Amino acid sequence: MSARQLVRVAVLGSTGSIGVSTLDVLSRHPDRFEVVALTAHNNVSRLREQCVRHRPLFAVVSAAADAASLQAELRDAGLPTTVWSGEEALCQIAAHERVDTVMAAIVGAAGLRSSLAAAQAGKRILLANKEALVMSGPLFMDAVRAGGATLVPVDSEHNAIFQCMATDRGIDACRAGVRRIVLTASGGPFLRASYDALRSVTPDQACAHPRWVMGRKISVDSATLMNKGLELIEACLLFDVPPAQVEVVVHPQSIVHSLVEYCDGSVLAQLGNPDMRTPIAHALGWPERIASGVESLDIVRAGRLDFEAPDLERFPCLTLARGAAEAGGTAPAVLNAANEVAVGAFLNGQLAFVDIPRVIGQVLSQHSVRSATSLEDVMTADAWARPVARAAIAMCAGRAAGVCA
Ligand code: NAD
Ligand code: MG
Repeated sequence: MSARQLVRVAVLGSTGSIGVSTLDVLSRHPDRFEVVALTAHNNVSRLREQCVRHRPLFAVVSAAADAASLQAELRDAGLPTTVWSGEEALCQIAAHERVDTVMAAIVGAAGLRSSLAAAQAGKRILLANKEALVMSGPLFMDAVRAGGATLVPVDSEHNAIFQCMATDRGIDACRAGVRRIVLTASGGPFLRASYDALRSVTPDQACAHPRWVMGRKISVDSATLMNKGLELIEACLLFDVPPAQVEVVVHPQSIVHSLVEYCDGSVLAQLGNPDMRTPIAHALGWPERIASGVESLDIVRAGRLDFEAPDLERFPCLTLARGAAEAGGTAPAVLNAANEVAVGAFLNGQLAFVDIPRVIGQVLSQHSVRSATSLEDVMTADAWARPVARAAIAMCAGRAAGVCA
């Protein structure tokens, strides 16, 4: 048997929840993959451990001072790694000739430029960083096509949909005959909480997700259901369907990761234990299947699968996101930026949980939607929304939860 050429992988955001799971899957397949680049914001100690373990050619951190100290340590340890810093370096890695596959796992708008750079350079992009796609919308999908890139969704729902569209011909070929997409949502930690109880929930309670272990920002998004709202926009873009064709259903067991209904009435679903290593392994191996380390699903022990409609009164973020999806243009970028600022304020104890949607709604109501045909349009909308959101948050200071903004 001839030796297989190793796929050279860059993991952007390697110190995060998705990054760590990706390295776990990659470690199981040293005969297939080579880790060539790892990046982190400021968790330098974890990045150092990962460099020692995986010996990448490149590492990137945000601050130049961190890069200098890490470079010195890695050199002393005899590692081959060159350490760079800053967003431009992330883009260079994403487009580098020694990289075949880019795992885009930076959280939030901070991952937009590097994800776009991977698209433009025609890489295989495994997309976890949904905010990058939500912000830039059709621009991102155009960059994928123009660059000849291959986009494989990692978000568990979108990876499930991709699998239900059962194609080995790529994302563009897979939507014939699709009538409806059903995105499943776990409902988060506050599925059964009353509105009154939601007024006083803490960041730690919001981050204690019943099914998934994730970074803090996406954990809060899951608790407000904004995560499902962002995913609705993500699904419209990835699979080229209008928002009306995407339904959201709460499924507390998180075993069915999403469903696709076809025009003949067939409904296909993808099931599995809630462990991100499954969609990550699928995206890495596609169109082949590779082992992920995830346990077999014990469907008898699971016993039952429940589905219910989401409560839009307690979780208005879903309605805000659907509105932004329908408005298009700069609206999703504004929604995303306002959400990032509001979630950051909640995590810092400056905003009540129930005021997150109120702040986002305020910002959206002040925005006149424009078309977003360039990266500059997107960044202008993002830069406009952030101070407007901060001003709305400041109005909440000292006021009872649920009455401000
Ligand atoms: P996380 O907070 O655990 O990790 C984020 C990573 O991004 C870290 O490596 C961090 O160092 C890096 N990062 C943060 N800010 C940065 C900046 N300014 N510049 C450069 N790097 C920066 O987040 P996560 O849970 O791993 O999520 C990552 C992305 O994947 C998010 O977009 C999230 O929505 C998406 N996602 C996550 C999950 C999950 O189960 N965790 C599931 C689906 C999608
Ligand atoms: Mg998801």
